[in-house]
Amino acid sequence: MMKVVFHKDFYQVYTFEPAAEAGRMEASSYSSWGFCYFNNMAIALVVLRQEGLISTALVLDIDLHFGDGTVNIHNPSERSREEYVRQVGHILSGVQVDLIGISAGFDNHIDDWGGLLETEDYFSIGTMVRQTARASGGGCFAILEGGYNHDVLGHNVAALIDGLSS
Ligand SMILES: [Zn+2]
Repeated sequence: MMKVVFHKDFYQVYTFEPAAEAGRMEASSYSSWGFCYFNNMAIALVVLRQEGLISTALVLDIDLHFGDGTVNIHNPSERSREEYVRQVGHILSGVQVDLIGISAGFDNHIDDWGGLLETEDYFSIGTMVRQTARASGGGCFAILEGGYNHDVLGHNVAALIDGLSS
């Protein structure tokens, strides 16, 4: 089901399920709903910790539907895109962890259910995460979560990856 691959200073987690929030945090300890059976983010971090590769991590959840397994970690919830991006910066400010994991849902896009973020905002978020990880000597990765408008999903994913690679 899941394979954790180490590549340079990035931790990349590949899941062998299609997108559509295949393993989102809607999967909690004892139940699941929608398309969600496993909490990919929680599993990834537990495996990395058990293998002694990380001891600290921050989860940044940018999916519209935060909840259940990682609900109490970090999820920006502002109602303007400028405030949202600013809040991400605030969350990341001064963070010192071994790994930052992004629950990368794109259903908060202006042309998706959430109707909030522009494509360039995903680039900004990716850039901030990468800079924070680099400053603290840690790594970063993202797991694809929600995103239902296929006309814009690819552009948004590419923008986040560009930001993480900048
Ligand atoms: Zn969602």
